[in-house]
Amino acid sequence: MSIVLENLERLKEAARLENISDEHLSVLNTPVQVSYAELAVGDRKLPAWRIIYNRALGPGKGGIRFHPEVSEDEVQSLAFWMSLKNSLADIPYGGAKGGVKFNPKDSSPAELEEISRAYARAFADKLGQDKDVPAPDVYTNGQIMAYILDEFEKIKGAHEPGMITGKPLELGGIALRGDATAQGGYLVTKEMIKKFLSGKTACKIAVQGYGNAGLFMAEKLAVDGHLIVAASDSKGGIYNENGLDIMALSAWKNSGKSVSEFAGGQAVSNAELLELPVDILVLAALENQITADNAEKIQAPCIVELANGPINLAADRILANKKTVVVPDILANSGGVIVSYFEWAQNRTGQILDEEYLRDLLDKKMKSGWQRVVAKFEEKNGEITLRQAAYIIAIKRILAAEKYRGRIK
Ligand code: NAD
Repeated sequence: MSIVLENLERLKEAARLENISDEHLSVLNTPVQVSYAELAVGDRKLPAWRIIYNRALGPGKGGIRFHPEVSEDEVQSLAFWMSLKNSLADIPYGGAKGGVKFNPKDSSPAELEEISRAYARAFADKLGQDKDVPAPDVYTNGQIMAYILDEFEKIKGAHEPGMITGKPLELGGIALRGDATAQGGYLVTKEMIKKFLSGKTACKIAVQGYGNAGLFMAEKLAVDGHLIVAASDSKGGIYNENGLDIMALSAWKNSGKSVSEFAGGQAVSNAELLELPVDILVLAALENQITADNAEKIQAPCIVELANGPINLAADRILANKKTVVVPDILANSGGVIVSYFEWAQNRTGQILDEEYLRDLLDKKMKSGWQRVVAKFEEKNGEITLRQAAYIIAIKRILAAEKYRGRIK
């Protein structure tokens, strides 16, 4: 089943639990705007998308991914998750996502600049601080955002830093953005340990995907005394049951080397890492990592989804039967978009907000999201999953906005 169809299944399941009618739900069945272009770069034509799934709560908001596996199904699914994530986080955004299908690892810095500028030109009339606001995602970063902003502003003939977030500080970015996703994930993981692991100290943790989200998350958990026993990237992973030296591993990874070549642990494949005997599994790579093929073999009692969509629908059901606690992506990785919202608000008002105040606000928003999800889970006597609880809250806020807009009765 495509990810889009799986999402609709999840949506229906959550809606049924709350007696939301099919008629109301139908506004969430399809994206409101699908834009496609072929970016001509050198002698290549690269498929590119920008999709707004829903905009009842505000302009589109969501990252841009550069990856060889990008497809319309994937971009639409990511835009769908962004809609729910932004709603759950209580921020004034709809949901959107973009992507370009190519392998950035095979491209020179000059080609990456050309592709970023071509993307901005292709979708310039669809983007803007009140229309749709991109941000970084897998294999895109502040520099890519800077090229897109620059090209967009050239076309518009005016400055508009709020059209994109995750920018360098000098272009109106925000210091908190670098580790915001991990910080948000870390805050809810601490709450999860209190509630579902009896406040256990020195938890054994495996992290799949040692990139922006996974690396900072591992560092924060290690500082608290937890043992990061395994980590991986696209080339493979390493395992040491006594805990890896995380600061050394981060320095290694930041110097451009693969986690799999780090001394200090035994080699494990990405598939093996998922099945290790740990307390917490952090998924911080890509979609569809846990499926019907491996869900039964997962030993971790708790999973945190820092990546979007790392567990598919069939696996969700198997894990639910096993009573595995899954902190869903739309909550666990929402720190990134919450801080993007701070950046956007700052760009729009011209005010500089105090960093301590913003850190505190991120903390409050993450805890509020966690508390609302747990309250809904408990209202249903723990017979639903945390994902279903999060979906119910998110869907209801979007549908309330759609109702005020008169799109549903
Ligand atoms: P990134 O490109 O910085 O890191 C991704 C990491 O995953 C890389 O180290 C890569 O080598 C590794 N990887 C790729 N395929 C893998 C595989 N099969 N097994 C193990 N590792 C693999 O990207 P990121 O920004 O950290 O994003 C990771 C996930 O988090 C994505 O799903 C993204 O959508 C999600 N996310 C990120 C942010 C953010 O602010 N960075 C926000 C929300 C969600």
